[in-house]
Amino acid sequence: MKILESVMERVIKRDPNEPEFHQAVKEVLESLEPVAEKNPEWVKAGIFDRIVEPERQISFRVSWVDDNGNVQVNRGYRIQFNSAIGPYKGGIRLHPSVNASILKFLGFEQILKNSLTGLPMGGGKGGSDFDPKGKSDGEVMRFCQSFMTELERHIGENTDVPAGDMGTGAREIGYMYGQYRRLRNDFTGVLTGKGLTWGGSLARTEATGYGLCYFMDEALKAKGKSFKGATVVISGSGNVAIYATEKVHQLGGKVVALSDSNGYIYDPEGIKLETVKKIKEVERKRISEYIKYHPNAKYTEGCSDIWTIKCDIALPCATQNDIDENSANMLVKNGCYAVGEGANMPSTPEAIDVFIKNKVIFAPSKAANAGGVATSALEMSQNSMRYSWTFEEVDAKLKDIMVNIYKAASTAAKEYGYEDNLVVGANIAGFLKVADAMYAQGITY
Ligand code: NDP
Repeated sequence: MKILESVMERVIKRDPNEPEFHQAVKEVLESLEPVAEKNPEWVKAGIFDRIVEPERQISFRVSWVDDNGNVQVNRGYRIQFNSAIGPYKGGIRLHPSVNASILKFLGFEQILKNSLTGLPMGGGKGGSDFDPKGKSDGEVMRFCQSFMTELERHIGENTDVPAGDMGTGAREIGYMYGQYRRLRNDFTGVLTGKGLTWGGSLARTEATGYGLCYFMDEALKAKGKSFKGATVVISGSGNVAIYATEKVHQLGGKVVALSDSNGYIYDPEGIKLETVKKIKEVERKRISEYIKYHPNAKYTEGCSDIWTIKCDIALPCATQNDIDENSANMLVKNGCYAVGEGANMPSTPEAIDVFIKNKVIFAPSKAANAGGVATSALEMSQNSMRYSWTFEEVDAKLKDIMVNIYKAASTAAKEYGYEDNLVVGANIAGFLKVADAMYAQGITY
């Protein structure tokens, strides 16, 4: 029996109803088997059993009053997963699908992702099953204030520094920060993704999408390819998708499709990003509106068929388990040679197998989308220094970090006998630093 199989069995036994969490842990443990063989002292110190159990998991009631005067009740969470190498860091997801399994999968991935950036951040994640879609600004504000009224006692600039994620953009971070400041009477860098006039960092908005493209550019270069002239399909039309599109266009590629949870648009002439920004960032409307401005484009209801569009490079930037085995086979059949995960865990394990078997350049989320959290760490540094870097300075640091993550993942893959397998490489490279810190600090948590 493999050393880490029993760890996985205990994870499932302890929380049998957490499929997303199991999926994330299984993938990581499978790639860490050679690390366990090489480091029996880590097995003995329970590092593998400890890293899959959150240090702390908080769940709380969030009550607020809607515009009709009715009381609404949501559930809030914060998963403080691992603080061996720095304060907990990870986003707040506001989406009706949010539950403990999804946040634990995200928090667990965040440990290794944050470690990969080379910056001192532990892993955490939080959120609520609140759906900001269709709510007025007043309703969102009252929810965020209520959410922060509880969260405030668990976070701090040296303890836990939350950020945005799905459903939590600049507006929500603003409302949450305002409430934190009021409760604590303290102006401090306790959240990232803040507005530029109150401690935010230039290039944070662009960071995840841009970082994904910097990572992919490096991975493509290693195989003699580039974005130049490439046709690209991107799922989602939120923060990550929009800025990935912008960078692909800057690097000479052409994005022909984007989606939201209702359907997708296909514009063979290339997506006009200004229109998407207007629809999504300003008007907060559906992506289907795009065809009103560009009648040559086509809108299709439903999401999964987006992966039947012929492309060279696919960048899933919407949500988890967006590409299944069928979609992966379709992409390969149509000549797609590179997949970069902008969203967290957007490919199912079966889809990843298809990509690896077919020698598709496959960039897993914990490496490829680390640009967002890396820039959040740069925001924290600027807050501590009470100083702001220019857009160009932050962007240059982001690019450096993404290139280094690529190097760390590809080198680890090669060292452990899995050349070109960035899934294994990213898991190992991210894990080594955290395991070393946990071992050095003794059996505490
Ligand atoms: P946003 O909320 O800005 O956008 C999410 C996009 O995905 C929306 O277009 C949304 O459509 C779409 N979407 C959601 N569910 C589905 C679905 N089931 N099928 C198809 N489309 C769907 O989120 P972000 O762009 O910030 O995040 C996207 C992903 O990237 C998430 O996995 C997130 O965890 C990850 N990520 C984000 C980072 C960041 O800095 N923002 C950092 C690292 C990772 P609709 O509007 O209809 O809901």
